[in-house]
Amino acid sequence: MKLLSVVVPAFNEQEAIPIFYKEITKEFESLKKRWDQLEFEIIFVDDGSTDDTLKVVRSLRKEDLRVRFVSFSRNFGKEAALFAGFEHARGDFTVCMDADLQDPPALLSQMLSAVIDEGYDSAATRRVSRKGEPPIRSVFARLFYRIINRMSHTDIVDGARDYRIMTKKMMNSILSMKEYNRFTKGIYGWIGFRTKWLEYENVERVAGETKWSFWKLFKYAIDGIVGFSTAPLSMATYFGIFMAFVAFLLIVFIIVKKLVFGDPTSGWSSLVCILLMLSGIQMFCIGIVGQYLSKTYLETKRRPIYIAKDTSDEEEEG
Ligand code: UDP
Ligand code: MG
Repeated sequence: MKLLSVVVPAFNEQEAIPIFYKEITKEFESLKKRWDQLEFEIIFVDDGSTDDTLKVVRSLRKEDLRVRFVSFSRNFGKEAALFAGFEHARGDFTVCMDADLQDPPALLSQMLSAVIDEGYDSAATRRVSRKGEPPIRSVFARLFYRIINRMSHTDIVDGARDYRIMTKKMMNSILSMKEYNRFTKGIYGWIGFRTKWLEYENVERVAGETKWSFWKLFKYAIDGIVGFSTAPLSMATYFGIFMAFVAFLLIVFIIVKKLVFGDPTSGWSSLVCILLMLSGIQMFCIGIVGQYLSKTYLETKRRPIYIAKDTSDEEEEG
């Protein structure tokens, strides 16, 4: 007997969950035909939803014991939800999927066959198109991947989804990374393991709305860079050295000009401009240091990654 755990982070997904459940159980049936030893469980992680998400999940649980859930005391974000799902998953294989069916269940059989038959540790998916997404978002997303891959030694794949299946071994190594500032896409790259990449066209969500505002994504991008690269810190250093060097050349130039040609030094406005520019750059560099400092600060507090208010396991034990 092998068990497949499906981890589903859900934040205000009351409309999407019933549709998701119907589709995924249909897929389970067809997977069962290919691997008759396979059992399934679905772990919904209610990320502090303010709608009836938990109620919907509870009613599914009543009908189907393969459904389990963890419910957070507030919204902790998708990264925390994934971590909680992984902690509760009991499967030999674990797959994470969005509740909005943007991760096509039809790919599951290919993903399973990669880990069961072909001996991969993991099978991951990436979107080759961003059809249906606001164009401005695609532009920034592309830019982000280009920047982070320049800066970080960890390979972070453009268009990679969180939709990924992995073996227990690989999942345990993810769980061993207890950092508070989580950037799962980077963590996957960092731990290594053999991954098979599957590609597919973008699918639009079935119901509800995207939970990511532009600012949320922007902050997420900064978290990713700060979490997996220290390049911005060295950049500040190099820039400082470069500026000091330029200033030194200018000083020599001005002194020589004064001594040899006797020109009085002029240029009040250029001085102000330079001063303003340099103090701007200084503030920027201090800001970079501040970003790392704030992450370090949060990390040293060792706060839990999430707080679960209710779980299906607890409720049924008593
Ligand atoms: N999600 C979550 N917590 C959040 C935001 C999102 O658990 O704070 C879940 C959401 O319910 C969905 C998945 O993460 O199942 C992906 O979110 P969404 O579809 O809004 O993102 P997009 O597909 O637009 O990138
Ligand atoms: Mg989505």
